[in-house]
Amino acid sequence: MTVETSHEHTAAAAGATGPRRLVVLGPQGAGKGTQGSRLAQRQGIPAISTGDIFRANVGGGTELGRVAKGYMDRGDLVPDEVTVAMVADRLGRPDAADGFLLDGFPRNRAQAEALADMLRRLGVALDAVLHLTLSDEQIIRRLSGRRVDTRTGRVWHVESDPPPPDLVAQGVVVQRNDDRPEPIARRLEIFHAQTAPLIGYYADAGLLVTVDGDGSVDEVADRVAAALRLS
Ligand code: AMP
Repeated sequence: MTVETSHEHTAAAAGATGPRRLVVLGPQGAGKGTQGSRLAQRQGIPAISTGDIFRANVGGGTELGRVAKGYMDRGDLVPDEVTVAMVADRLGRPDAADGFLLDGFPRNRAQAEALADMLRRLGVALDAVLHLTLSDEQIIRRLSGRRVDTRTGRVWHVESDPPPPDLVAQGVVVQRNDDRPEPIARRLEIFHAQTAPLIGYYADAGLLVTVDGDGSVDEVADRVAAALRLS
């Protein structure tokens, strides 16, 4: 049994034009979750974040959560067979039949090939891969200052968007275990070694849309909308 996350949107924007089957690719901290959930809401499709699903399962104490926790705390990838099976299950649900946005998957070549197989079996194809860029220096600044509301998933930043002190004092807003220096370094290393090659893979497939992730949430959202030619 797996636990669902609360970041899935299906209702809004019915009839919206633009891509309906999307992957958001980029380093941690580039804004995949923030921009991905906005975009999914705008398009009326579910935002499927593998990181959020894993975290919900860790929080819910499920078997999947127990398997994933050690890898996540170190900043390592959860094994492909576990992740791929979880995504296949999620994409097979009725709310994903008409579109979806994948945030944090695929993260390596094997996962990208598994996704291609899944979509082939479902008789659908990706419309676009949104690639959000950010320098390593900015990534480290964003991740080390990031704080998350454990109830809502709302993200704060100690410098640019400080969380309410009472929520911090109550332990409601916390730092993710993997937003500490060692896991951040490990995640960056994995991004460059395993995930970055997918940029070329999707460029070759003619799907890549690259957007500069540096700037405010609204600035980047405007760039995303323009790059994807959303109405
Ligand atoms: P994220 O929230 O996307 O930064 O993901 C947090 C952690 O969840 C990652 O550091 C991995 O441990 C795990 N994770 C998320 N997505 C994947 C994936 N596609 N493959 C393997 N592990 C993943």
